[in-house]
Amino acid sequence: MSFEQELDKYDFNDIKDFIFSRKPADVEFALGKENIDEEDFAALLSPAATPYLEEMAQKANRITVQRFGKTIKVYAPMYLSNVCANSCKYCGFNRHNEIPRVILTDEEIRQETDIIHNMGIRHILLVTGESPAKVGTDYLINAVNIMKDKFSSVCIEVYPMSAEDYTLMYTHGVDGLTMFQETYNRVKYADVHPAGRKRDFGWRLGGPERGAQAGFRTIGLGTLMGLEEFRTDQFFLGLHAGYLMKNYWKTHVSISFPRIRKASGNFQAYQIIDDIDYVQMLLTHRLFRHDLGINVSTRESAEFRNKLLRLGVTHMSAGSKTEPGGYAKEHDGKQFQVEDTRTVEEFCDMVRMNGYDPVLKDWDTYFLNGE
Ligand code: SF4
Repeated sequence: MSFEQELDKYDFNDIKDFIFSRKPADVEFALGKENIDEEDFAALLSPAATPYLEEMAQKANRITVQRFGKTIKVYAPMYLSNVCANSCKYCGFNRHNEIPRVILTDEEIRQETDIIHNMGIRHILLVTGESPAKVGTDYLINAVNIMKDKFSSVCIEVYPMSAEDYTLMYTHGVDGLTMFQETYNRVKYADVHPAGRKRDFGWRLGGPERGAQAGFRTIGLGTLMGLEEFRTDQFFLGLHAGYLMKNYWKTHVSISFPRIRKASGNFQAYQIIDDIDYVQMLLTHRLFRHDLGINVSTRESAEFRNKLLRLGVTHMSAGSKTEPGGYAKEHDGKQFQVEDTRTVEEFCDMVRMNGYDPVLKDWDTYFLNGE
């Protein structure tokens, strides 16, 4: 059974009502268990759990250190293109936005590669807008071939592909995939994706599973917090992660939950997520899935990321630029404003000062092909 079939067993509004009906006794019951089930997960996501954050934090810290040690995997994104055929209402790359549109040339890819490599980064996440006609598999394979000798792990965050195309990417050296569903509510999904290929909810939802079938070593999932009622979306994100962990045990699954802080252009978020809400979601995911990777990007401030270090996070980006060619020269074609502007070195110093190890390399494609 696919995850889409699993998801269809639930009604978004029923789950929302269930989460909001949880009481302190349900939270205390969940906190008394080492392994929690779906009902407990809903209780810890609920407003009733907010007064228990300290207890949740201590537990989340203990579990994370047991499973991952005191480590933070460090990576950086490389934006290859901001050309996009879609009209996602919340995104700066929306095709209707007037921003400089860039597709990096081979020379520009080499330049960005050298800069990022010199920063000490060895895990790279390649990001594009969604324009398979202009930035398709041929372009991506060429980009991967240009840079792969400089990075030990190359992941992609691009448009959803067929299983055949994921296999093609895998055979050319891509070892991981990030694909955010944005929201698990089909009605809201249709509303915020009015046109373009991204409008197809099921095709996107199946992307991570097709990637896992192709053999990707890592899969990243996520929602955009604030598009929909965030506690309910987090419930489904937890189910999605659990589904992949159970069915594709060779693939390591991680999650991200970027949040909308303020309206972008004319877009009005359903709700604004504050720091306490954010921390509660992070802790709850850790208590639900002990082996889940949890990723916090530079979209969050330096001060806040420092505080999150001990609360269950396993992956953080550093030194990021969110426009194509931005490491060589910043311009206005950013997807979002980076809040944590520290260099990789400054970020790693902070991690060490807190008694953690920044992990710049934990993988080599040699392990895959033995060459
Ligand atoms: S979210 Fe992705 S698909 Fe949508 S407009 Fe932005 S880059 Fe394009």
